[in-house]
Amino acid sequence: LVSREVKPEDSLVRVGNLTLGGAAIHVIAGPCSVESREQIISTAQAVKAAGATMLRGGAFKPRTSPYEFQGLKGDGLALLAEARKETGLLVTTEVKDTATLAAVAEHTDILQVGARNMQNFSLLEAVGETRKPVLLKRGISATIKELLMAAEYIVARGNTQVILCERGIRTFENMTRNTLDLNAVPMLKALTHLPVFVDPSHGIGVRKAVPAMMRAAVAAGADGLIVEVHPDPPRAKSDGFQSLDFSEFEKAMGEVRAIAQAM
Ligand code: PEP
Ligand code: MN
Repeated sequence: LVSREVKPEDSLVRVGNLTLGGAAIHVIAGPCSVESREQIISTAQAVKAAGATMLRGGAFKPRTSPYEFQGLKGDGLALLAEARKETGLLVTTEVKDTATLAAVAEHTDILQVGARNMQNFSLLEAVGETRKPVLLKRGISATIKELLMAAEYIVARGNTQVILCERGIRTFENMTRNTLDLNAVPMLKALTHLPVFVDPSHGIGVRKAVPAMMRAAVAAGADGLIVEVHPDPPRAKSDGFQSLDFSEFEKAMGEVRAIAQAM
């Protein structure tokens, strides 16, 4: 169902008044985790001013260690809803499991399925039963084919509003958090009609290097980006080492716009 052989023309994903996968590049930006009202509202305002069209923020966080910050959960969803109301930005947040799907779906415009859940088939089937757009992130060690088959699980249940997201894969290289596989962008664009986004933050995991990978992703043909931005990255409760501050994000957005216009 997701193959270009079956449907040659690009699929557009409609989120509120936005169209993803069309001519315009969309940037989803915000903190890894929602931490406080002040943090999420100030970030929403800053990323909107810089040109982002959607806000991200984790409420239910799938952390590698059970002793790390797990997110504000329901309170985080409520704060995202406030930020959405305050700024008009549409929101994406991760759905970690089927038990919290209904609560998350009620408060988000896009359901994010995280890398660690890319082959959680019960979750894929459950989000496939909803009619909410889904941002499906590539698994940490998943092939392009496996990503496409995971999308197939969602679309097979009738939810055609799927956006694929390259977010870096695990390789022998350990200077960076992951290896952002930009090969996946033109490959996916050829293989599937679904929109393709890139997450340069998790892809490289090094703050100073994120803007270069934002530019590279757009140059490679990505339909959009999802970028971590925090008011004070060294103090972030998660992923501060790869989060841009407001001025770094604003500068990177200017560069991304110039590349998008040149294409
Ligand atoms: C995130 O977006 O904060 C996240 C946990 O991403 P991933 O699932 O790609 O690791
Ligand atoms: Mn993160």
